Amino acid sequence: MGEFVKPLLQVKNLKMHFPIRSGVFSRIADHVRAVDGVSFDIFPGETLGLAGESGCGKTTVGRTILRLLDGGEGEVYFEDSPNLLDLSQREMRPYRKDLQIIFQDPFSSLNPRLTVGSTLIEPLKIFGIGNSRKERRDRAVELLEEVGLNGSHLDRYPHEFSGGQRQRIGIARALSVEPKLIICDEAVSALDVSVQAQIINLLMALGEKRGLAFLFVSHDLSVVEHISNRVAIMYLGKLVEVGTKEEIYRSPKHPYTQALLQAAPIPDPSVKRERHLLEGDVPSPINPPSGCPFHPRCPECFEPCSDVVPEWISVSEKHEVACHLHSESLQTIE
Ligand code: SF4
Repeated sequence: MGEFVKPLLQVKNLKMHFPIRSGVFSRIADHVRAVDGVSFDIFPGETLGLAGESGCGKTTVGRTILRLLDGGEGEVYFEDSPNLLDLSQREMRPYRKDLQIIFQDPFSSLNPRLTVGSTLIEPLKIFGIGNSRKERRDRAVELLEEVGLNGSHLDRYPHEFSGGQRQRIGIARALSVEPKLIICDEAVSALDVSVQAQIINLLMALGEKRGLAFLFVSHDLSVVEHISNRVAIMYLGKLVEVGTKEEIYRSPKHPYTQALLQAAPIPDPSVKRERHLLEGDVPSPINPPSGCPFHPRCPECFEPCSDVVPEWISVSEKHEVACHLHSESLQTIE
């Protein structure tokens, strides 16, 4: 993406701290720092992959941006919008047309009592798309065909479909209101591998055809590699490395990214790789480690890491890392 292209979505210092209540008076005793100062941009037509181990806070990022969770702090701007985190749910409504989400579990995200037709026509009514019942029904048929189903499926119920078909319906529902950006929240994680590939290819084709941008949240690094233009790696509520797909996968700079990539399965059985599995448990997000949050598990940990929070360092034009190993001034302490 060129420097002069304006971001579609800007996320600045996003935080989501969930209160922990205890005692008879339910006082707030502490907070789970699920998201703790996350910043990134997404440009028109771009797919940003957001990856990390489960529990790192990546799903919470997507839901906080969309205001499916309240209580987020920081700034989120969509095109020329005010800060979305400051809006009431009512003021947020017009932006819901442009910002859609596809969930992990297509079965629980579809209302079992609504036919596929009603599921697709309802958002059209809410956002005033289509002038008549027939027009909206025709539009629903077009959407089904666009995602590889057919018009005869309109009067069926979600339980009559396979997992992959249900996810296609979820995609059709998200597309129905002509969004500009879709957050895919582990959108293929519940599907068989062969079906995953079909859904990813469908999302990529739709993205290209419609000029859509995606925030693709996934723990699966091979899926993220396939679909993304840029990749952000998240650990314990914070981003630790952001770069183009090529730079992250071919030349990862953060020890956590390196460990994640080494632990990822290789689809080709003839390729052997030395494995360095991550040691230790992920620390509690209630009381994250001081300094670099990865320091208790980091094989490269050195003197400043336990005390000094790493700053973002540009290792190339489109590749940044938050790690002291890449800070010239701190390297001299060793
Ligand atoms: Fe490891 Fe230190 Fe870099 Fe953190 S800052 S990833 S502890 S080397």
